[in-house]
Amino acid sequence: MKKIAELYKGKAKSVYTTDDADKLVMVYRNDTSAFDGGKLAKLDRKGMINNKTNAFIMEKLAAAGIPTHMEQLISDTESLVKKLDMIPVECVVRNIAAGSICRRLGVTEGLDLSPPTFELFLKNDALHDPMINEYHIRSFGWATDAEVEQMKELTFRVNDVLKKLFADIGILLVDYKLEFGRYHGRIVLGDEFTADGCRLWDAQTRKKLDKDRFRQDLGGVVEAYEEVAQRLGVNLN
Ligand code: ADP
Ligand code: UDP
Repeated sequence: MKKIAELYKGKAKSVYTTDDADKLVMVYRNDTSAFDGGKLAKLDRKGMINNKTNAFIMEKLAAAGIPTHMEQLISDTESLVKKLDMIPVECVVRNIAAGSICRRLGVTEGLDLSPPTFELFLKNDALHDPMINEYHIRSFGWATDAEVEQMKELTFRVNDVLKKLFADIGILLVDYKLEFGRYHGRIVLGDEFTADGCRLWDAQTRKKLDKDRFRQDLGGVVEAYEEVAQRLGVNLN
């Protein structure tokens, strides 16, 4: 599969067209950003670790019957994916309170959310990804009601699979963000599942093993991502 032209350069990944109109090459870069691009850094090895971790997780999700865009790893930092018509909405599930929900609702980080809660955000950096609801999605035509139902259902199914996967290696899945798109009319999980887009805490010590290490200047960012990959059994060689 040949990369032809850069279709889009995001904050952490670049996307290339290929000789197959239905497929894209996704390149995981070392670039790391937080606060809608307000804080930037290049972290050596992060692209490789995230590319391989994502491939591992997507394979687990596919094995559980969740349709994903992942086709195959093609190099340390590149994956071949299905080209989706992305829906500009971020689906977030939270098992434990952290991040923006603490600021918005005045709750303490670490509060157990039972049952887990679900939130929707508009993917728009200029507007700082505002929180939206299903009525906004309907009124602005970002997705149909049926598509929203599928995205929500799939986001919760991902929670069932990944909460257990991480629990088995002594990690709490605190929260995560998913993006979906359409592929020949069907809703498919796109983008990535890595420590860049979720919160993971060591179950014993509650040590943060995710992008909060970068957001909060805790140090050891790549080391934490690598620890997660190693505990999962991802082959980083
Ligand atoms: P951002 O756009 O938030 O800066 P990235 O740097 O991760 O994010 O860029 C990846 C971009 O590719 C995102 O805009 C994402 O919505 C988009 N994307 C992810 N998966 C697919 C896919 N399978 N097909 C088309 N676009 C995708
Ligand atoms: N998230 C993300 N991209 C975004 C916004 C959030 O990957 O543009 C992830 C984030 O890493 C966390 C979850 O979604 O795992 C919930 O994020 P939150 O709303 O708490 O926002 P934050 O405080 O992280 O900006």
